[in-house]
Amino acid sequence: MLSLADRWPLLAQPAALVAYLCGTVALALGVAVCLAASTPFRWPELLTFLALMACGAVCIEATRRLGMPAGVSRDLLSAWWLPAAFLLPPVYALLAPLPLQFLLQMRVRQTVLYRRVFSAAAIGLAAGTASMIFHAAASGDADVPLGSGGALAAAVACGVIFTVLNTALIAIALYVSDPGNTRWREALWDRERVLLDVVELCLGVLVAIACALSPLLLLLTLPPVVLLQRSLLHAQLTAAARTDAKTGLLNATAWQCEADTEIVRARRTGETLALLIVDIDHFKRVNDTYGHLVGDQVLAGVADALRSQLRDYDVVGRFGGEEFVVLLPRADVAEARRVAERLRSRVGRVAIPVEDTMISVTVSAGVAVMSLHGDDLIELLAAADLALYRAKELGRDRICLPVAPEPPPHARADNADGGIP
Ligand code: GH3
Ligand code: MG
Ligand code: MG
Repeated sequence: MLSLADRWPLLAQPAALVAYLCGTVALALGVAVCLAASTPFRWPELLTFLALMACGAVCIEATRRLGMPAGVSRDLLSAWWLPAAFLLPPVYALLAPLPLQFLLQMRVRQTVLYRRVFSAAAIGLAAGTASMIFHAAASGDADVPLGSGGALAAAVACGVIFTVLNTALIAIALYVSDPGNTRWREALWDRERVLLDVVELCLGVLVAIACALSPLLLLLTLPPVVLLQRSLLHAQLTAAARTDAKTGLLNATAWQCEADTEIVRARRTGETLALLIVDIDHFKRVNDTYGHLVGDQVLAGVADALRSQLRDYDVVGRFGGEEFVVLLPRADVAEARRVAERLRSRVGRVAIPVEDTMISVTVSAGVAVMSLHGDDLIELLAAADLALYRAKELGRDRICLPVAPEPPPHARADNADGGIP
């Protein structure tokens, strides 16, 4: 039989999150009821609202078959609720997310209900506020909405207000749900997100101008918006297919592809390149002691630590289980050792907060360098794997290179490869 928490996943969330989500939804409902009571009903406004919602529904249906990536994903539905905010009384901006979120839930992806309800409330509150400010600022231009420079500037400013409020409401929810996690910061600032926000804002204002001229012009705005929405979803799905969900790093297939490209480039240009395999020490003990979910948090923590120590053009991925792979373009033996040592000591200093304790782990790494230990990806991986084996055998929490081939007797005096085994 299903437990209460299974039927109502909201109840399994932290109390602070439940309070925040319920408060936001109650606020949105309260504002919507007050505005509805004080807004006179007019047929043309209702018809414009229905036309905008119909466009949103067409957009959703036209992209439905592509699917939707898991987690927080983006769409261009603001193209329909921003015009509602600019052209109609604010109550419509509060109501606009309801039918479209309902359609997303029924036709695209069934997610936990409280997330949909919260999304609708957050978008509604943000769009409603933007709408109220816009109508107050552009009241002199009511007959020709968006026709003057002043009204246009107000629309852009209110579009920004909508985006900032909506993002802030979501970032607070992410923070309250897990204060130790940094996802809320990514929600606030990420170059891709900001670019998308700008595109959404431009689309919203352009659709609003077209709709203000004649609601029939919505028919002309629909195809380009649908096409943009499709390409956006396609890009998100492609990115999701390359990413390891637990750590956010490249998955093994995508890493291998990138690594192959780098190796071909290094061979063509004659540059050096190094490969590291990094393995968490005694990870099974973490799982056995704290459980797999905590193990997953540790994996994510180690991945963050690795990422924080690498350059933009280094290629880092999760190879499988608790093993990570790093490709270091242009790194020679000395540089590869330095980086591997830096990664090892950085991971060792990370303490991952779990319930009321802090967990620390160490890693061992095998290092292989192009030309010295192998000429293609398979050879380099095999060499780094052997080196990792040595690091484990020698006691873990260390880095190793593959055993150097026995030098000819006359060269032994020159072998200065000491220090790290
Ligand atoms: P060693 O120092 O020799 O590497 O020991 P180890 O315990 O890290 O290595 P072993 O290969 O014995 O165990 C790896 C463990 O990693 C076993 C497996 O349950 C765990 N593991 C693999 N993938 C995941 C994952 O996605 N999440 C969690 N939580 N654990 C995982
Ligand atoms: Mg291990
Ligand atoms: Mg392993």
